[in-house]
Order: sequence, then C-alpha cells, then structure tokens
Amino acid sequence: MTLDRAKRLDRVCGRGHLHLEEGDITATDVDCVVNAANAALAGGGGVDGAIHRAGGPSIARELKARYPHGCPTGKAVVTQGGLLSARVLIHAVGPRWQGGEAGEEDLLRGAYRTSLLLAEERGCQGIAFPAISCGVYGYPIEEGARVAVQVAIDWLRNPERQISSIRFVLFDGTTFAAFERALENEV
Ligand code: ADP
Repeated sequence: MTLDRAKRLDRVCGRGHLHLEEGDITATDVDCVVNAANAALAGGGGVDGAIHRAGGPSIARELKARYPHGCPTGKAVVTQGGLLSARVLIHAVGPRWQGGEAGEEDLLRGAYRTSLLLAEERGCQGIAFPAISCGVYGYPIEEGARVAVQVAIDWLRNPERQISSIRFVLFDGTTFAAFERALENEV
C-alpha cells in the first residue's frame, strides 16, 4: 500500500487493484466512469451536474431517448461518455437515506454491482466510481464507504469477473478518509 501527499492509495486485491484518490471524477482518465444519478435520469447537482457539464449535451439526449422512464433505484443504465475521456458512462441510481430500515444497504450494493456488470458487458477493464448516495442523498459516509469497498473487494476476488481496476474518486478529504478506514477494516 502506498499513500502520498496527493491522497492516493493503491491496494492489490484479488485479480487486480483497488485505488482510492481524492479528486474530480470528470478529470479521471479511465475507460468507464460511473455517475451518481437520480431515478428520473434528469440531471441534478453534485457529481451528476459536473458530469453533464463536462460531458456535454449528448449525454442527456441519449438518456432521454433510450431511457424515457428513468432507472429504478439500486440499478444503473449506460450511455456513451460524450466529451469525457471515458468511452462508457454508467448512470447508477443509489438510494436516498431514510434512516437505514428501508433497504438502503441492498439498494446501494445493487447500484455498485449493476454498474460493474454493465461495464464488464462492454468489455471495460477499469472503472471509476464516486461515493454514490453520500452527497445530497444523505447516506452516512462511514456506512456508504463500507458498502462500496466491500462490493469492490468481492468483485476483484471473484475469478469469474473481468474488471481488474476499481477506482474510487472522492471529492474531499473527509470522504477519502472514510473510504481509507473502510478499506483498512476489510482487508
Ligand atoms: P447523491 O445524490 O448520490 O448523494 P451527490 O452528487 O450529491 O450524489 O454526491 C455523491 C458524492 O459525489 C459526494 O461525496 C460528493 O461530494 C461527490 N462529488 C460531487 N462532485 C464530484 C466530482 N466532480 N467528482 C467526484 N465526486 C464528486
């Protein structure tokens, strides 16, 4: 494991690597980027707004044309990356936190797992995620980080999966630190 001043951590895990880094996911150079979308796929603030601004209007057009009924919570849909460097853009719908008794954990797990499946269907080797649901949707960061890291580790340890690099691009130091603790607790 290495940790430098730019807040970056890389851990060998199963068949590949799990990376944590502090930064802006729209600037990440990776084959597949995941967006934290809402069920209407209507665009919003946070990472969703940043991805649509950086990726250009073709993303919203494709979403509207291909998924006019939106996407259920806990699932994900895919578009092209528009002006992003990513070839594949996945729009994952995490749950809104309602206290923890409304199936939030399974739904969050589902959002991450569906994204990984869609990326593999498109032949991606690497994928970058934000901290789904941990912004406006209010998922407690320690819990959200634990779910995200568990899904990633399970995936990389499964010999039947293809993705060999899972990257979490975290917007601030607090979120990075929560993911770092989650990773230390899991491995
Ligand atoms: P949600 O509605 O799923 O909670 P948000 O976009 O509000 O989605 O927040 C999800 C996480 O993404 C938060 O930790 C937020 O700080 C972070 N975030 C916001 N903008 C960016 C960005 N450009 N790159 C990476 N993460 C971002």
